[in-house]
Amino acid sequence: MKLATFICSGKSMVGVVAPENDSVWPVESLPKDGKRIPDMLDVIRHYDSLLPVLQSRGSNRRSLHDVKLQAPIPRPTRNIMCVGKNYHEHAHEFSKSGFDSSSTSSTDAIPTAPIIFTKIPECVIANRAPIRYPAGISDSVDYEAELAVVIGRGGRGIRREDALKHVWGYTIVNDVTARDWQGRHKQWFLGKSFDTFCPMGPWIVTADELDIGDLNVRCWVNDELRQNANTRDLIFDVPTIIEAISAGITLFPGDVIATGTPAGVGVGFVPPKFLKPGDRVRIDISGIGTLTNTVEDG
Ligand code: MG
Repeated sequence: MKLATFICSGKSMVGVVAPENDSVWPVESLPKDGKRIPDMLDVIRHYDSLLPVLQSRGSNRRSLHDVKLQAPIPRPTRNIMCVGKNYHEHAHEFSKSGFDSSSTSSTDAIPTAPIIFTKIPECVIANRAPIRYPAGISDSVDYEAELAVVIGRGGRGIRREDALKHVWGYTIVNDVTARDWQGRHKQWFLGKSFDTFCPMGPWIVTADELDIGDLNVRCWVNDELRQNANTRDLIFDVPTIIEAISAGITLFPGDVIATGTPAGVGVGFVPPKFLKPGDRVRIDISGIGTLTNTVEDG
Protein backbone atom coordinates (compact mmCIF):
# COMPACT_ATOMS: atom_id res chain seq x y z
CA MET A 1 0.00 0.00 0.00
CA LYS A 2 1.19 3.52 -0.79
CA LEU A 3 0.29 6.28 1.65
CA ALA A 4 0.64 10.01 1.04
CA THR A 5 0.20 13.18 3.08
CA PHE A 6 -1.45 16.07 1.26
CA ILE A 7 -3.43 19.27 1.62
CA CYS A 8 -7.05 18.93 0.56
CA SER A 9 -9.74 21.58 1.17
CA GLY A 10 -7.26 23.44 3.36
CA LYS A 11 -6.59 20.47 5.61
CA SER A 12 -3.57 18.22 5.87
CA MET A 13 -4.57 14.60 5.64
CA VAL A 14 -3.34 11.13 4.82
CA GLY A 15 -4.63 8.99 2.01
CA VAL A 16 -4.12 5.75 0.17
CA VAL A 17 -2.56 6.26 -3.26
CA ALA A 18 -4.31 4.48 -6.13
CA PRO A 19 -2.31 1.79 -7.96
CA GLU A 20 -2.15 4.07 -11.02
CA ASN A 21 -0.39 6.77 -8.89
CA ASP A 22 -2.89 9.33 -10.15
CA SER A 23 -5.29 9.74 -7.23
CA VAL A 24 -5.80 9.23 -3.48
CA TRP A 25 -8.49 8.06 -1.14
CA PRO A 26 -8.36 10.38 1.91
CA VAL A 27 -8.60 8.81 5.36
CA GLU A 28 -11.29 11.07 6.77
CA SER A 29 -11.04 10.30 10.49
CA LEU A 30 -9.71 7.93 13.08
CA PRO A 31 -12.14 5.03 13.48
CA LYS A 32 -12.59 5.35 17.24
CA ASP A 33 -13.26 9.07 17.72
CA GLY A 34 -14.65 9.70 14.25
CA LYS A 35 -13.43 13.30 14.33
CA ARG A 36 -9.70 13.69 14.25
CA ILE A 37 -8.04 13.35 10.87
CA PRO A 38 -4.96 11.20 11.34
CA ASP A 39 -1.50 12.28 10.28
CA MET A 40 1.09 9.83 8.99
CA LEU A 41 2.54 9.28 12.46
CA ASP A 42 -0.93 8.23 13.70
CA VAL A 43 -1.21 5.84 10.79
CA ILE A 44 2.21 4.34 11.55
CA ARG A 45 1.51 4.00 15.27
CA HIS A 46 -1.99 2.53 14.82
CA TYR A 47 -1.53 0.81 11.48
CA ASP A 48 -3.01 -2.54 12.48
CA SER A 49 -6.23 -1.04 13.83
CA LEU A 50 -6.46 1.45 10.93
CA LEU A 51 -5.88 -1.18 8.25
CA PRO A 52 -9.60 -1.96 7.69
CA VAL A 53 -10.29 1.77 7.24
CA LEU A 54 -7.38 2.13 4.84
CA GLN A 55 -8.42 -0.91 2.83
CA SER A 56 -12.07 0.18 2.61
CA ARG A 57 -10.86 3.35 0.83
CA GLY A 58 -14.27 5.02 0.80
CA SER A 59 -15.87 6.84 -2.08
CA ASN A 60 -14.11 10.19 -1.89
CA ARG A 61 -11.36 9.53 -4.44
CA ARG A 62 -9.40 12.67 -5.37
CA SER A 63 -7.15 13.26 -8.32
CA LEU A 64 -3.58 14.11 -7.36
CA HIS A 65 -4.06 17.22 -9.53
CA ASP A 66 -6.64 18.46 -6.99
CA VAL A 67 -4.49 18.04 -3.88
CA LYS A 68 -1.07 19.35 -2.86
CA LEU A 69 1.35 16.64 -1.81
CA GLN A 70 3.35 17.26 1.36
CA ALA A 71 6.30 15.19 2.45
CA PRO A 72 4.84 11.89 3.69
CA ILE A 73 6.03 12.83 7.20
CA PRO A 74 6.05 16.64 6.83
CA ARG A 75 7.88 17.27 10.10
CA PRO A 76 9.52 14.14 11.56
CA THR A 77 9.60 14.13 15.36
CA ARG A 78 13.35 13.56 15.39
CA ASN A 79 16.31 14.22 13.13
CA ILE A 80 16.49 12.20 9.95
CA MET A 81 19.22 9.63 10.44
CA CYS A 82 21.49 9.09 7.45
CA VAL A 83 24.24 6.72 6.38
CA GLY A 84 27.35 8.14 4.74
CA LYS A 85 29.38 6.37 2.05
CA ASN A 86 27.21 3.27 1.84
CA TYR A 87 27.63 2.23 -1.81
CA HIS A 88 31.01 0.82 -2.86
CA GLU A 89 31.49 2.92 -5.98
CA HIS A 90 30.33 6.13 -4.27
CA ALA A 91 32.70 5.58 -1.32
CA HIS A 92 35.61 5.62 -3.77
CA GLU A 93 34.34 8.64 -5.73
CA PHE A 94 33.78 10.66 -2.54
CA SER A 95 37.12 9.70 -1.06
CA LYS A 96 38.84 11.02 -4.18
CA SER A 97 36.82 14.27 -4.23
CA GLY A 98 38.82 16.17 -1.62
CA PHE A 99 35.66 16.95 0.39
CA ASP A 100 35.73 13.78 2.52
CA SER A 101 36.92 14.53 6.04
CA SER A 102 36.20 10.92 7.07
CA SER A 103 38.93 9.38 4.96
CA THR A 104 42.41 10.45 3.93
CA SER A 105 43.38 7.86 1.33
CA SER A 106 41.92 5.39 -1.13
CA THR A 107 42.84 2.55 1.22
CA ASP A 108 40.26 3.60 3.84
CA ALA A 109 37.54 4.66 1.38
CA ILE A 110 35.24 1.75 2.31
CA PRO A 111 33.97 2.17 5.88
CA THR A 112 34.30 -0.79 8.23
CA ALA A 113 31.23 0.28 10.25
CA PRO A 114 28.25 2.41 9.19
CA ILE A 115 28.91 6.17 9.23
CA ILE A 116 25.83 7.81 10.74
CA PHE A 117 24.93 11.50 10.78
CA THR A 118 21.64 13.41 10.94
CA LYS A 119 19.67 16.19 9.25
CA ILE A 120 17.27 18.38 11.18
CA PRO A 121 13.51 17.74 10.71
CA GLU A 122 12.90 21.34 9.63
CA CYS A 123 14.76 20.85 6.34
CA VAL A 124 12.20 18.31 5.04
CA ILE A 125 10.24 19.44 1.98
CA ALA A 126 7.69 17.80 -0.33
CA ASN A 127 7.85 16.47 -3.84
CA ARG A 128 7.77 19.50 -6.21
CA ALA A 129 8.69 21.98 -3.43
CA PRO A 130 11.73 24.14 -4.30
CA ILE A 131 15.23 23.51 -2.99
CA ARG A 132 16.37 27.01 -2.00
CA TYR A 133 19.81 27.80 -3.40
CA PRO A 134 21.92 29.27 -0.57
CA ALA A 135 23.57 32.01 -2.63
CA GLY A 136 26.53 33.55 -0.85
CA ILE A 137 26.65 30.72 1.67
CA SER A 138 27.64 27.75 -0.50
CA ASP A 139 28.72 27.33 -4.11
CA SER A 140 28.88 23.52 -4.04
CA VAL A 141 25.33 22.26 -3.53
CA ASP A 142 24.98 18.59 -4.44
CA TYR A 143 22.21 15.99 -4.77
CA GLU A 144 22.13 12.48 -3.27
CA ALA A 145 19.40 10.02 -4.27
CA GLU A 146 18.60 7.64 -1.41
CA LEU A 147 16.26 4.88 -0.32
CA ALA A 148 14.85 5.85 3.10
CA VAL A 149 13.49 3.51 5.77
CA VAL A 150 10.48 4.45 7.92
CA ILE A 151 10.46 2.70 11.28
CA GLY A 152 7.15 1.16 12.39
CA ARG A 153 7.89 -0.66 15.62
CA GLY A 154 10.47 1.04 17.79
CA GLY A 155 13.07 -0.63 19.92
CA ARG A 156 16.58 -0.69 21.28
CA GLY A 157 19.14 -3.40 20.75
CA ILE A 158 17.35 -4.65 17.63
CA ARG A 159 19.17 -7.64 16.18
CA ARG A 160 19.96 -7.87 12.51
CA GLU A 161 17.74 -10.89 12.00
CA ASP A 162 14.75 -9.10 13.56
CA ALA A 163 15.36 -5.68 12.03
CA LEU A 164 12.98 -5.83 9.07
CA LYS A 165 10.06 -6.54 11.43
CA HIS A 166 10.62 -2.99 12.74
CA VAL A 167 10.34 -1.38 9.30
CA TRP A 168 6.95 0.05 8.34
CA GLY A 169 7.78 1.33 4.90
CA TYR A 170 10.11 3.03 2.46
CA THR A 171 10.30 6.38 0.72
CA ILE A 172 12.80 8.47 -1.25
CA VAL A 173 15.06 11.14 0.23
CA ASN A 174 17.30 13.59 -1.61
CA ASP A 175 20.13 14.16 0.89
CA VAL A 176 21.02 17.61 -0.49
CA THR A 177 24.48 18.67 0.68
CA ALA A 178 26.63 21.81 0.72
CA ARG A 179 29.99 20.11 0.02
CA ASP A 180 32.12 23.07 1.07
CA TRP A 181 30.50 23.06 4.52
CA GLN A 182 30.89 19.29 4.74
CA GLY A 183 34.62 19.57 4.05
CA ARG A 184 35.48 22.77 5.93
CA HIS A 185 33.66 21.94 9.17
CA LYS A 186 34.88 18.32 9.30
CA GLN A 187 31.37 16.96 9.93
CA TRP A 188 28.27 16.29 7.88
CA PHE A 189 25.49 17.91 9.91
CA LEU A 190 25.66 21.61 9.04
CA GLY A 191 25.93 21.38 5.27
CA LYS A 192 23.20 18.73 5.07
CA SER A 193 20.66 20.54 7.25
CA PHE A 194 20.26 23.82 5.35
CA ASP A 195 16.63 24.88 4.91
CA THR A 196 14.90 22.75 2.20
CA PHE A 197 17.82 20.30 1.99
CA CYS A 198 15.73 17.17 2.59
CA PRO A 199 13.18 16.56 -0.18
CA MET A 200 11.16 13.47 0.83
CA GLY A 201 8.44 11.52 -0.93
CA PRO A 202 6.38 11.40 -2.98
CA TRP A 203 4.81 8.91 -0.53
CA ILE A 204 5.63 5.89 1.61
CA VAL A 205 5.29 2.33 0.32
CA THR A 206 4.63 -0.22 3.03
CA ALA A 207 7.38 -2.75 3.61
CA ASP A 208 5.35 -5.76 2.44
CA GLU A 209 5.38 -4.43 -1.14
CA LEU A 210 9.12 -4.10 -1.74
CA ASP A 211 12.17 -6.33 -2.13
CA ILE A 212 14.73 -3.85 -0.87
CA GLY A 213 17.63 -6.07 -1.88
CA ASP A 214 16.94 -5.35 -5.55
CA LEU A 215 15.79 -1.78 -6.17
CA ASN A 216 17.01 0.49 -8.95
CA VAL A 217 18.01 3.94 -7.70
CA ARG A 218 18.29 6.55 -10.45
CA CYS A 219 18.75 10.30 -10.43
CA TRP A 220 18.60 12.82 -13.26
CA VAL A 221 19.66 16.45 -13.16
CA ASN A 222 17.58 18.12 -15.82
CA ASP A 223 17.59 15.28 -18.38
CA GLU A 224 21.08 13.91 -17.68
CA LEU A 225 21.14 10.57 -15.88
CA ARG A 226 23.71 11.04 -13.11
CA GLN A 227 23.10 8.14 -10.69
CA ASN A 228 22.09 4.67 -11.80
CA ALA A 229 22.61 1.87 -9.27
CA ASN A 230 20.93 -0.97 -7.45
CA THR A 231 20.54 -1.52 -3.71
CA ARG A 232 22.51 -4.78 -4.21
CA ASP A 233 25.62 -2.55 -4.10
CA LEU A 234 24.95 -1.29 -0.55
CA ILE A 235 27.93 -1.78 1.78
CA PHE A 236 25.71 -2.06 4.88
CA ASP A 237 22.21 -3.41 4.27
CA VAL A 238 19.09 -2.16 6.07
CA PRO A 239 19.18 -4.76 8.89
CA THR A 240 22.84 -3.93 9.60
CA ILE A 241 22.06 -0.20 9.71
CA ILE A 242 19.13 -0.70 12.09
CA GLU A 243 21.22 -2.95 14.33
CA ALA A 244 24.01 -0.36 14.49
CA ILE A 245 21.77 2.65 15.21
CA SER A 246 19.53 0.89 17.72
CA ALA A 247 22.39 -0.67 19.68
CA GLY A 248 22.49 2.34 21.99
CA ILE A 249 19.68 4.59 20.72
CA THR A 250 16.01 3.65 21.04
CA LEU A 251 14.22 3.90 17.69
CA PHE A 252 10.63 5.16 17.61
CA PRO A 253 7.74 4.76 15.15
CA GLY A 254 8.12 7.32 12.39
CA ASP A 255 11.90 7.59 12.57
CA VAL A 256 13.40 8.00 9.10
CA ILE A 257 16.75 6.52 8.08
CA ALA A 258 18.26 7.47 4.70
CA THR A 259 20.45 4.59 3.60
CA GLY A 260 23.13 6.39 1.57
CA THR A 261 23.64 7.42 -2.02
CA PRO A 262 25.23 5.63 -4.98
CA ALA A 263 27.98 6.95 -7.25
CA GLY A 264 27.28 9.81 -9.63
CA VAL A 265 26.88 12.75 -7.25
CA GLY A 266 28.04 16.12 -8.57
CA VAL A 267 31.28 16.13 -6.63
CA GLY A 268 32.31 12.87 -8.27
CA PHE A 269 32.72 14.50 -11.70
CA VAL A 270 35.85 16.28 -12.93
CA PRO A 271 35.15 19.15 -12.88
CA PRO A 272 32.32 18.81 -10.32
CA LYS A 273 28.74 19.25 -11.51
CA PHE A 274 27.15 21.14 -8.65
CA LEU A 275 23.52 22.29 -8.66
CA LYS A 276 22.55 25.80 -9.69
CA PRO A 277 19.26 27.71 -9.69
CA GLY A 278 16.91 26.36 -12.34
CA ASP A 279 18.18 22.78 -12.16
CA ARG A 280 15.59 20.04 -11.76
CA VAL A 281 16.52 16.94 -9.75
CA ARG A 282 14.44 13.84 -10.42
CA ILE A 283 14.95 10.67 -8.39
CA ASP A 284 13.25 7.38 -9.21
CA ILE A 285 13.37 4.23 -7.09
CA SER A 286 11.68 1.15 -8.51
CA GLY A 287 8.51 0.20 -6.68
CA ILE A 288 8.28 3.55 -4.87
CA GLY A 289 7.90 6.37 -7.39
CA THR A 290 9.53 9.64 -8.42
CA LEU A 291 10.67 12.59 -6.32
CA THR A 292 11.21 15.81 -8.28
CA ASN A 293 12.46 19.15 -6.98
CA THR A 294 13.71 22.26 -8.71
CA VAL A 295 16.48 24.47 -7.36
CA GLU A 296 15.35 28.07 -6.94
CA ASP A 297 17.08 31.26 -5.86
CA GLY A 298 16.88 31.34 -2.07
MG1 MG B 1 23.65 10.90 1.83
